[in-house]
Amino acid sequence: MLSFLFQKFSGRHHRKYVEKCRPIVARINEFELQYQQFTDDQLRAKTDEFRDRIAKGETLDAILPEAFAAVKNAARRLCGRKVVVCDHELTWDMVHFDVQLIGGITLHEGRIAEMATGEGKTLVATLPLYLNALTGKNAQLVTVNDYLARRDSEWMGHLYNFLGITVGCIQQQMHSEVRREMYGRGITYGTASEFGFDYLRDNGMATRKEDQVQRDHFFCIVDEIDSILVDEARTPLIISGPAPIEREQPFTRLKPGVASLVSDQLRLINRLVKEATDLLEKPAVTAEERQTAAMKMLQVKLGMPKNKLLLRLQENPEWRKLLDKTDVEMHSDFNKDELYKFKEELFFTIDEKNHQADLSEKGRTTLRPTDPDAFVLPDLATIFTDIEKDAVMTPEQKDQAKREAQSRYEVVSEDIHALSQLLRAYSLYERDVEYVVQDGKVVIVDENTGRIMSGRRWSDGLHQAVEAKENVNIERETRTYATVTIQNYFRMYEKLAGMTGTAETEATEFHEIYHLSVTQIPTNQPCIRIDQNDSIFKTRRDKYNAVVKQVQEAQLRGQPVLVGTVTVEQSEVLSRMLKRAGVIHTVLNAKFHQQEAEIVTRAGHRGSVTIATNMAGRGTDIKLGEGVRELGGLFVVGTERHESRRIDRQLRGRCSRQGDPGKTKFFLSLEDDLMRLFLQGNLASRIMEGAMVEGEELEHSLLNRSIESAQKKVEQQNFAIRKRLLQYDDVLNKQREVIYGIRNGALHDDRPKGVIFEMIEEELASRLEAAGYGEKGGTSLARVESLVGWLNSHFPISAKVDELANRRDLEALLKELVERIKQAYALKESVEDPAALGGLERYIVINAIDHHWQEHLTEMEELRRSIGLRSYGQKDPLSEYKGEAFRFFEELMNNVRLQICTSLFRSATNRDAFENLFAILSRSASLQGPTAAPTALTAATQVSSEPASTGAPAPAEPEVKLPTITIRRETPKVGRNDPCPCGSGKKFKNCHGAA
Ligand code: ADP
Ligand code: MG
Repeated sequence: MLSFLFQKFSGRHHRKYVEKCRPIVARINEFELQYQQFTDDQLRAKTDEFRDRIAKGETLDAILPEAFAAVKNAARRLCGRKVVVCDHELTWDMVHFDVQLIGGITLHEGRIAEMATGEGKTLVATLPLYLNALTGKNAQLVTVNDYLARRDSEWMGHLYNFLGITVGCIQQQMHSEVRREMYGRGITYGTASEFGFDYLRDNGMATRKEDQVQRDHFFCIVDEIDSILVDEARTPLIISGPAPIEREQPFTRLKPGVASLVSDQLRLINRLVKEATDLLEKPAVTAEERQTAAMKMLQVKLGMPKNKLLLRLQENPEWRKLLDKTDVEMHSDFNKDELYKFKEELFFTIDEKNHQADLSEKGRTTLRPTDPDAFVLPDLATIFTDIEKDAVMTPEQKDQAKREAQSRYEVVSEDIHALSQLLRAYSLYERDVEYVVQDGKVVIVDENTGRIMSGRRWSDGLHQAVEAKENVNIERETRTYATVTIQNYFRMYEKLAGMTGTAETEATEFHEIYHLSVTQIPTNQPCIRIDQNDSIFKTRRDKYNAVVKQVQEAQLRGQPVLVGTVTVEQSEVLSRMLKRAGVIHTVLNAKFHQQEAEIVTRAGHRGSVTIATNMAGRGTDIKLGEGVRELGGLFVVGTERHESRRIDRQLRGRCSRQGDPGKTKFFLSLEDDLMRLFLQGNLASRIMEGAMVEGEELEHSLLNRSIESAQKKVEQQNFAIRKRLLQYDDVLNKQREVIYGIRNGALHDDRPKGVIFEMIEEELASRLEAAGYGEKGGTSLARVESLVGWLNSHFPISAKVDELANRRDLEALLKELVERIKQAYALKESVEDPAALGGLERYIVINAIDHHWQEHLTEMEELRRSIGLRSYGQKDPLSEYKGEAFRFFEELMNNVRLQICTSLFRSATNRDAFENLFAILSRSASLQGPTAAPTALTAATQVSSEPASTGAPAPAEPEVKLPTITIRRETPKVGRNDPCPCGSGKKFKNCHGAA
């Protein structure tokens, strides 16, 4: 409701904002007029003057009009100059328009400026970037790819350089020294992935502050912000490497069973389709028979939603309607039991919308005839209670039995997971559509751009499942070294801004998640684009035929056409059809960004036909060739509605830039995914069903509306998914902040022994408490002995049992012990190389953190997975996750503290150990993220040169192991006031749960 109101009034709201900016624009232009009298040097001197004034306390807002005027005036001075951009020479011909000044103000205020394609957003960004760089902090601009980062930084660089502000750009494969240099400049361009990975390497992997490359997270403008924060936000950035221990892969073991189960299901499905068709085609079909046929169709849909025969059946509008109706009916609560029965007749069911696969009873027994429980999670709570109640077993036997139950639980839960991933791999992931197999590897194909995403892997075992299906080598599991989502990376900036042609439809999301409001900036010239009604056809073939005809006609006229498709596969189908029809055209094969940009540039020339996926070529401007204006400008043809309206708007926006003529039209068919999944049973399909004959075309403005509302539904769903993901990620994000905070503290401290002693003190305090010191006083000889044993095996302080046995006061004892450890350490300091001690201490902290943090990350991933399984129960998975995550984190901090205690007196200023660790990391780490190709780890892997070699033994591995976390985690939780599971009848907190 709120977002509806928001949208309704947003028109007025945008106009108001623009009006508010007018007086500022007038002032900018007055200043600019003055500056026109200046010499070049006088103008340049302004930069230093502004810096001075800021240093003296003047605000950026106060300086804005003059600073913007300086940039605009510099642009004017550059006019007519030859400038080199990405090895091409071009002539500078831009001076900021008034609407661009408004755009600049919007960005400076930390909002999203929605400006249509071709409005010159690249130039707009120069204004706030210059202004914010005056503070001496790093002003940044994020682009969609490396090529654009380089192009825009070189292009706009001429302007910045004129004013004496340095600019740089970050590129993949760049060395860390160069990166640091680039971040050191006033303004830095780069991609979201590169910025994000640099952050991870700086904070999660760098071992010396000299290895960190970023300066700060002050001001950042994200170009094409929707593409980066909405489309790419689903993939987190991950730096990973091989996991230390290889686990057995259940995929290979389960695959043969699944493969044969899938063919069983296929046979069953084919039979059902045939039976349904026979019934439906009967000349005098009774109502009952129709119903039976409908149920069979529904079963097919449940069992294999992408089945080709089923899709063909649905081409008959009457049958399609029947299926839709039955589908809706059967999913009502009223028919729950019957639906269950029908599902149970299948071997497994696939939920296409939710990407889920479930095994039925029948499937389970087919897979494991002798062990029907093989894929049922054991009920640990009951098992544990039973064990506790057992009167015969000794405590050791009970422990043993519990451990066995526990490990059985783990095996089954892993099997269930692997099985479900295998079923998905077989039923929903089609080779050469979702992925390709290249050189014995399964490589993901990006669904939007059709790019081959080499190096990227599906998470959560899906990738391994597909590898098993394709009989290629199953790659070993990896360990996550560091990870952050793009959302959380950008939320770190003091001030974030964005620009794009299409943000309005996602305004609510930007507002809720990033606190960014969207402002629509009017175009410089009125937009005269004509958006025609959609044409809808019954089949894909009809649709493509119509597209080919339209393209042919346009080419005869000489009007350039840009055809947008949703997938590469469709691009290829269309390309073949056009070829047969004798239409000369170019396919945008989105492999190399620079080439891509060049092809898109030519797309506006007379008679040119370009096929491109909807997302390709973003950021490159299509200029009209000679004589094209008279022909009506560029004609944009859409061949399918995207899930999100924004992507469609993006495609439409490719034409009619800067007041150019142009028109757009979408061609759709009932077989399109969006239509198939989301138009079931509503007005549009009723209109269509009545009349549609093969080859016929339907066009009505009502239809456009109806499709839009289907898109809105999907958008909302996707937003909900992204929001949910973020809620999960927030938990980890808070933990990351804490850990990186400590880590960075150690990194930037010349002698981080403060952190070390803090940790030691905490560890000691908790051990003293556990030994019974403190207010209530309850030590026993045994506890004191064990405490003394621990103390002496960690610190050379020769603690004695009799000196500790009679003490009561925890605080005093703690202080005394810490003091003794400090003295012992002072002794050690006196024999070590003083120059290397800082490095040693840093190593102790960082090594402890990294080791356990990486383990923690892996465990948190597993937790996410097991929570997914648990959500079958009645609990809210998110709050479960939060609770568990908190316990994990406590455990992590315990482990870190303990390892620090362990290593303080066992490490020497030894260079070898240090070198080895990071050399291993650098050899094995790889990067994963939306746009990054895998690269060798470049930053953060330089070996510290600080610690000098003394030939002392390498720091020992932590010898103290806490009980393995998995055991504790999976044990069913008992509330503190619940009866204790041991059967004593006491409350848990007074029995086994007593702290
Ligand atoms: P957007 O990113 O908004 O789609 P671009 O920054 O790629 O647009 O610019 C589109 C085109 O408009 C470029 O060719 C650029 O040279 C031109 N342009 C931008 N601003 C101006 C201006 N003030 N005067 C003249 N041409 C401009
Ligand atoms: Mg752009």
